[in-house]
Amino acid sequence: MLHSIIATNTNQKKNLSSSRHAIVIGGSIAGLLTARVLADYFDLVTILERDRFPEKPIPRPGVPQSHQLHVLLSQGLRIIEQLFPGIKDELAVKGASTIDWAADYRLLLSRGWAPRFPSKITSCSCTRNLLEATIRQRLNSYSNLEFKEANFVTGLLSDTSNTGVTGVLVKDANGIEAELSAQLVIDASGRNSNAPNWFQSLGYDRPTQTAINSFLGYSSRWYQSLSGEPFDYKVLYIIPSAPDCPRGGVLYQVEGNYWIVTLIGVGKDYPPTDEAGFLDFAQSLRSPEIYEAIKDAQPISPIYGYQRTENRLRHYEQMSRLPENFLVVGDAVCAFNPVYGQGMTAAANGALTLDKCLKQYQHRSNEDAIGMGKHFQKQLAKVNTDPWLIATGDDFRWPTTQGGQPNLMTRLMQWYVEQVMLTASQSAKVYKVLLKVLHLLEAPTALFQPAVLAIVLLNIAIGRSKFTSKAPDETSTNLRSEQ
Ligand SMILES: Cc1cc2nc3c(=O)[nH]c(=O)nc-3n(C[C@H](O)[C@H](O)[C@H](O)COP(=O)(O)OP(=O)(O)OC[C@H]3O[C@@H](n4cnc5c(N)ncnc54)[C@H](O)[C@@H]3O)c2cc1C
Repeated sequence: MLHSIIATNTNQKKNLSSSRHAIVIGGSIAGLLTARVLADYFDLVTILERDRFPEKPIPRPGVPQSHQLHVLLSQGLRIIEQLFPGIKDELAVKGASTIDWAADYRLLLSRGWAPRFPSKITSCSCTRNLLEATIRQRLNSYSNLEFKEANFVTGLLSDTSNTGVTGVLVKDANGIEAELSAQLVIDASGRNSNAPNWFQSLGYDRPTQTAINSFLGYSSRWYQSLSGEPFDYKVLYIIPSAPDCPRGGVLYQVEGNYWIVTLIGVGKDYPPTDEAGFLDFAQSLRSPEIYEAIKDAQPISPIYGYQRTENRLRHYEQMSRLPENFLVVGDAVCAFNPVYGQGMTAAANGALTLDKCLKQYQHRSNEDAIGMGKHFQKQLAKVNTDPWLIATGDDFRWPTTQGGQPNLMTRLMQWYVEQVMLTASQSAKVYKVLLKVLHLLEAPTALFQPAVLAIVLLNIAIGRSKFTSKAPDETSTNLRSEQ
């Protein structure tokens, strides 16, 4: 049965007869941040989410990755704070702690521990569930924004000539289908977005896509406390080190002083999800610290595996024809290998990009706004370029990675970045710039600034450190002192 939600919904916060309505498909991080921006431009914003949101900040089925560790990069927090002033403090009140990504971060790079010092590169350490729930609560205070939970979008509505999207087809928990009309529809439904199929059914091409897969897997378990606490860090990360050490692991402290422990394997060396296998894998890492911390600790969760981690870019920006009034954001456009922690920050960057775009088009008539979708997808593709290069460039260092071959230029870049990483464990100055790039605060070109280049070249020249796959002792080095 089809009927119009707009015509029947009595809970609407605004009379829609003459108003502009925007719909967001998906109420996860990208959808929420997008909705926040839309609320400044539209009379009503509706977020359609297939899940029912849990009352407490806990994982939910529509976001299967929500059991896993989620790092919020510094740039991500900055943007979220800009969109929701005071949210950083609110998260702190709820138990998130501020993390300085050099002082509070114990990182084993490929050839040594990274220097520790106050860097002012900060974000907050909490579960993605707390972050999502807090953003959602903030949005609840917007009178022109509504959530429709347990509403699954099954297709797009279009005008008679199929040139523009006019709304969505949605199915509620009782299987009742309805049409919901809107002046703008934004797909934020994640990696498994149906937009390519919807395009096809409207007579458009599917976007081409690039997928680069290093076959990385996570296994994560939550602990109330770890052996050996208190630690002098909030995060410990043993990175997998290409090409010989595909295994890594993370200890990550979140609200409630819980720890999420994530084991990582690249090239299908997936960490097991059974008790003994999990511990064995932890014991095989380059440093014993994770194993020592968990071997006698009491877990409070099962072990959650996750292996759908390929970088996937859908090239909407390259399509010659796009339906009007329809945009795609977040993982639905560009999903990254999660090990670089970029997805939520890329979603935040996307929200700012949308804001700029809407600003440009807001005073135009409907006809003048033709082409906004194309413009937006092009701008978004530009914004996604750096995180994409960082993630795929690093993934290509593994011989097992599939999805194309890096060209000569990329290989040269990889070689240089590798030298930067090697130097970073010796030089606080280089490490700080590297952190800024990895936290998307600066473009990767920052790694080529003369001050960094000079230290990296010096490090190469003195032929520092013969490769060892074991963690070296934490000795201070002559390069390390210059911050
Ligand atoms: C294992 C793993 C670890 C990660 N770690 C990090 C990290 O450390 N840092 C980081 O920044 N990012 C990380 N990410 C990425 C991060 O989860 C996403 O980038 C982020 O959630 C933004 O995604 P999104 O909102 O676009 O999509 P998603 O989070 O996937 O959400 C999509 C939403 O749309 C809803 N939906 C889907 N289809 C429909 C439909 N038809 N109708 C209605 N609703 C629908 C879903 O229920 C869901 O709520 C990780 C990802 C994975 C897989």
